[in-house]
Amino acid sequence: SPDTVSTLLKRIEQDNVRFLRLQFTDLLGMPKNVAIPVSQAEKALTDGIGFDGSSIEGFARIEESDMLLKPDFDTYTILPWRPHENTVARFVCDVTGPDGRPFEGDPRCVLRRVTEDARKDGYTFNTGPELEFFLFRMVDGRPTTLFQDVGGYFDLAPTDLAENVRSDIILALEAMGFEIEASHHEVAESQHEIDFKYSDALTTADRVMTFKFAVKTLALMNNLHASFMAKPIYGICGSGMHVNCSLARDGKNAFYDPDGWQQLSETCMHFIGGVLAHAKAITRVANPTVNSYKRLVPGYEAPCYITWSTSNRSTQVRIPAPRGNSTRAEFRSPDPTCNPYLAFAALLAAGMDGVRNRTEPPASTNTNIYHMTAAERQKAGIETLPANLYEANQALLADDVICRALGSHVVDALASIADLEWDSFRTAVHPWELDRYLATY
Ligand code: GLN
Ligand code: MG
Ligand code: MG
Ligand code: MG
Repeated sequence: SPDTVSTLLKRIEQDNVRFLRLQFTDLLGMPKNVAIPVSQAEKALTDGIGFDGSSIEGFARIEESDMLLKPDFDTYTILPWRPHENTVARFVCDVTGPDGRPFEGDPRCVLRRVTEDARKDGYTFNTGPELEFFLFRMVDGRPTTLFQDVGGYFDLAPTDLAENVRSDIILALEAMGFEIEASHHEVAESQHEIDFKYSDALTTADRVMTFKFAVKTLALMNNLHASFMAKPIYGICGSGMHVNCSLARDGKNAFYDPDGWQQLSETCMHFIGGVLAHAKAITRVANPTVNSYKRLVPGYEAPCYITWSTSNRSTQVRIPAPRGNSTRAEFRSPDPTCNPYLAFAALLAAGMDGVRNRTEPPASTNTNIYHMTAAERQKAGIETLPANLYEANQALLADDVICRALGSHVVDALASIADLEWDSFRTAVHPWELDRYLATY
């Protein structure tokens, strides 16, 4: 409404903003933005700003590429690391066609649609992600895989050399309205985790995007490269993005039932049942790179089997101990290269499919699955996650529920992206092959 436009314009003026960044996300999960001087603010807030969608990965064809960015007023934030004299603020935008209709290739629009669908049944989807990342040294202005430190889980200085960078990052995120719950050195050398408070899935997906570029920016200001790549180094842990999921209904946590088995509600059970039933298709969006599958191997606290448990961390879904309003299912397979809008949309669609069809999850697995033989796993009916991007993409194409949730525009684009990516990887000759075969044959 014009009222909110004028309130916002006043705020922009009071904040001394000189530039506005209009931000959105492509299908690969890359943040994109266009900067406009503040003189264009009123036009942007009223009519949106036009751009050429044909140059954005997975967006539009050349013939129908005129698109609009419509700022979401609730996402106004100053970028705190920019100079104070020429303040820069940003808006997360929805992408629409020239007629103002939501663009079906916009991941944010996909998530909005799926969350609105769940809301018809009275449910709000809340997600709390745990993003892990590496801080690598820059040499001659280029990122390397050289560690900044050799600390491990929960280490302190001087083994943990990243205290200052992590606190720079946290202060910047707090200035942008994040509530940071914890930050610590992760298991691997130079690996870190910063956790922020859960919220509804759309808000959280926006925050994941903001988080990644804030971390990268602050790292660079400390002459470090922050990488969210899933498995940058062979032989040590990769980086995950565990997603803590819950449904709320009438302002209450719908996964909690004091009288239920393990104090979990039927809704929670069915949600898990749905997520496990669609786990293979979800993998296409939760683990979208060729490299993602190098993380999903035994031995590094990342899941590879489609199972759940109330305790053990070798399963794909784990129910953390807290109950009451904190009752949640931790989905452990996603990695931080995922497009959070699409990953949350797929998770919610799968979970709601379970809730609506009352899908019972298989028996929970409370032993360490890494220690089971293939025969024991088969006997227990434990399936394996897709082994690579190609298999995951095939699984997506075979899953009507997830395809319908993502929409055909997105599914077609994801399929062609996966085909090209997989082909390029499959036909490349890797250093491993030269090491193994060049001298021998
Ligand atoms: N890095 C592990 C993963 O890849 C998780 C480790 C942890 O948070 N306990 O998911
Ligand atoms: Mg954690
Ligand atoms: Mg962790
Ligand atoms: Mg976790």
